[in-house]
Amino acid sequence: MSDARTVIFEQPGGPEVMKIVQRPVGEPGPGEVRIRHHACGLNYIDIYQRSGVYPLPLPHALGMEGAGVVEAVGEGVTHLSKGDRVAYATGKAGSYCDARVMPAAQVCPLPDSIDFRTGAAMMLQGLTVEYLFHRTVPLKAGDTVLFHAAAGGVGLIACQWARSLGIRLIGTASTDEKCALAREHGAAEVINYEREDFVARVRELTDGRGVDVVMDSIGAATFERSLDCLRPVGMMISFGNSSGKVPPFDLGILGAKGCLQLTRPTVFVHIAQQEKCQEMAAHLFEMVESGKVTIRIGQEFALEDVAEAHRQMEARATTGSSVLLP
Ligand code: NDP
Repeated sequence: MSDARTVIFEQPGGPEVMKIVQRPVGEPGPGEVRIRHHACGLNYIDIYQRSGVYPLPLPHALGMEGAGVVEAVGEGVTHLSKGDRVAYATGKAGSYCDARVMPAAQVCPLPDSIDFRTGAAMMLQGLTVEYLFHRTVPLKAGDTVLFHAAAGGVGLIACQWARSLGIRLIGTASTDEKCALAREHGAAEVINYEREDFVARVRELTDGRGVDVVMDSIGAATFERSLDCLRPVGMMISFGNSSGKVPPFDLGILGAKGCLQLTRPTVFVHIAQQEKCQEMAAHLFEMVESGKVTIRIGQEFALEDVAEAHRQMEARATTGSSVLLP
């Protein structure tokens, strides 16, 4: 048994509540593996957890994805062996660390062509795009999707994924530089929503019809206006709350705005079962290995600089994916 540096927090709050402690890693029990991380992914959900928007029992470790090497395998785990290169996304927070023991079901063998940093950067965001485009609403070539925060981690993967499917993705972002980045990654159109009224612009870009689907991870600041971008019977996928949670609302709004559909999915439901998780990951790896999707790591931070990483994410200063290096 060895010790590992692990980022924990004891009270919800700002980036300063995180601290690094040394703690024993232990041996994997049945259905578990021990992984030594080469890189850990940073995601916006880590901020919801740290700040108390998604409460965790305290004290708690943070981080929902990582990549590294399997050091030990618990009883009953058949798809992994000691020494395997792996990557994962998990609903069990605690990946900001040198090494951890965790359930094996969501741990996926990482193809040799994908390096550890890319593996750590892509799992949670890539699996999210996989379920958004393939497991949430039927989407086909020629459909139009409005995708907010298109230059972010999930966003840049979504731009490329949509392009590969022939889906017309209209992205939004807060600066001209971010808009250009989203366009380079495959967005058909991009709206700077700090400067332009995105509802009016979407109507213009769709000849007044509206889009088939909105994928909205901004939450409070955009939710209602996003509904105004949909065609009749269009689908609103509300999958995040970077600006705050969507406040309670009258369901009748969906009828009044055009018989709209609404879903609030989460990746952790999709990856809960081992077989489905591995199937989704295989699809993601295929997209990356074929070159249809390139994972853009916009920022890398040492484990000690985790607070600075959170500050930059919250300040909207990041683009693409971000990784922590233990
Ligand atoms: P991003 O890299 O996309 O960062 C969040 C982005 O949101 C910012 O860069 C910013 O882009 C935009 N934003 C708009 N308003 C605000 C605000 N008030 N404060 C901060 N950011 C704001 O993060 P991720 O790729 O990690 O995640 C994207 C979203 O998807 C998050 O909301 C996340 O929770 C959600 N998500 C949901 C999942 C699910 O299954 N439900 C799974 C994975 C992610 P800009 O400056 O261009 O506006």
